[in-house]
Amino acid sequence: MYWLEIITLTKLIRFLSFKVLDALNRGCFCIKVLKKMEIHQKLKFWYQSAGRDLPWRHTSDPYFIWLSEVILQQTRVDQGLPYYYAFTQQYPTVHDLANAHEDEVFRLWQGLGYYSRAKSLLKTAKEVQHRYNGNFPASYQELLALPGIGPYTAAAIASFAFNLPHPVVDGNVKRVVSRCLQIQEPIESKVALNEIQIWLDACMQPSEPAIFNQAIMELGALICLPKSPSCSVCPIQAHCLATQSGRPTDFPIKKSKPAKRILHLSFAWAWKNGKFAIQKRGNEGIWANLWELPSIETPEPSDIQIFEPIFPGLSLSAYRTFELPVHLLSHREIRARVFLFKTESDALHQVEWISPEMRDSYGFPRILTRFFEQNEEAFRAQLNLDFSKPDTEF
Ligand code: SF4
Repeated sequence: MYWLEIITLTKLIRFLSFKVLDALNRGCFCIKVLKKMEIHQKLKFWYQSAGRDLPWRHTSDPYFIWLSEVILQQTRVDQGLPYYYAFTQQYPTVHDLANAHEDEVFRLWQGLGYYSRAKSLLKTAKEVQHRYNGNFPASYQELLALPGIGPYTAAAIASFAFNLPHPVVDGNVKRVVSRCLQIQEPIESKVALNEIQIWLDACMQPSEPAIFNQAIMELGALICLPKSPSCSVCPIQAHCLATQSGRPTDFPIKKSKPAKRILHLSFAWAWKNGKFAIQKRGNEGIWANLWELPSIETPEPSDIQIFEPIFPGLSLSAYRTFELPVHLLSHREIRARVFLFKTESDALHQVEWISPEMRDSYGFPRILTRFFEQNEEAFRAQLNLDFSKPDTEF
C-alpha cells in the first residue's frame, strides 16, 4: 500500500512537471512570435520615415517593378535611375519591350554589363506577352517559371505588385539577417540560406509583405553597410546578436573565392578610307551578340602581328597601342590592349566598316565605349594617320 502511494505520487509529479514545461515552452514561443512582430513593426516605422523616395516605389505595376529589379541587380540605385527612366520611356509597356529590336535594347543597356541579361530581359518580355497576353502572372510559382526570373525577382514582384507574402533575399537582406543571427556558416551555404529564410518568414507579417521587404532591403542599403554598419541608429539593434557581441563586420561569413582567371584580349582598331572595322560577337560567352573591334584572345599579351592573318600587310603600317584599364568580371580579369592602324587591304574576315558618326548606333561592351569616349582625339588624328607618338614607324 505504501509503495502504491509513492508510485502514484511520482506519476503525479512527472505529469505536473510536463505541464509546467509545456506552459513555459508556449510562453517562450509566444515571446519569440512577439519579438518577430516587433522586428516587422520597427522596420516598417523606420522605413516610413527614412526610406528613399524612388520612382518604382510609387507603382504596383509588375512590369515597372520587374524592370527596376533587373536594373538594380546590375548597378547601384543612383546609377540605375537613368536606365530605369530610359527603359520606361522607350518601352512604356511589356508589349513595347517584347516588340523591340535586340540591338536597340542592347544600346539602352550599354554600361550595365552582362548583355546576356539584356537578352534575357527581352526573352522574359516576349514570354509575358505571348503566354500571359502582356500581364505578369499574379503568383510566385508562375513568376518563377518565367525565363530570367529567379527566386529574388519573383519574390519582389509577388510582394510589391501583388502583396503576396514572399520575403526577398538579396545581398543586403542576407547581410542584415546573418548579423542579426550571427550565422556561423558561409552565407551562400544551404544551411545559412535556410536559416535566413526561416527568420524572414517568421518576421514578415503576411498582411504587409511589401513594406517589410522594402524596409529590410533599405536597411541593408543605408544602415547595415558591409564595412561600416551604423548600429547606433539601427531600428533592430536590440534584436541583433552581432552588434551585441561587438562583431557586426565579422558577418556574413564568406567562403574564400578562387583566383580570377586572367584573359589577354587584343583589339584591332583598323581604319580604311575614314572608316573602322567592327564585328559582331557570337551568341555565347562574355558580351554575347554585342559589337566590338576585331579581337583575339590569348593566354599571354600579344603584339600587333597577331592580326596579320586578318589584316595582311600590317608589318608595313605605323600603329599606336593603347593599354586599357584592367576590366574585372565575376570570374575573370580582362587585360586588353587596342592596336590602332591603317590598312589598305580588305580584311580576310567578316567585318563591317563604319564611320565614327555611326558608332552610337551599335551596342559595344562598356570596356570599348569607355575607350572610345576617352580617345576621341585619336579618332580624329587617325584620319591622317597623324600619330604624335607612334609605337613603330616602318
Ligand atoms: S545592429 Fe548593426 S549589424 Fe545589426 S542589423 Fe543593425 S546595422 Fe546591421
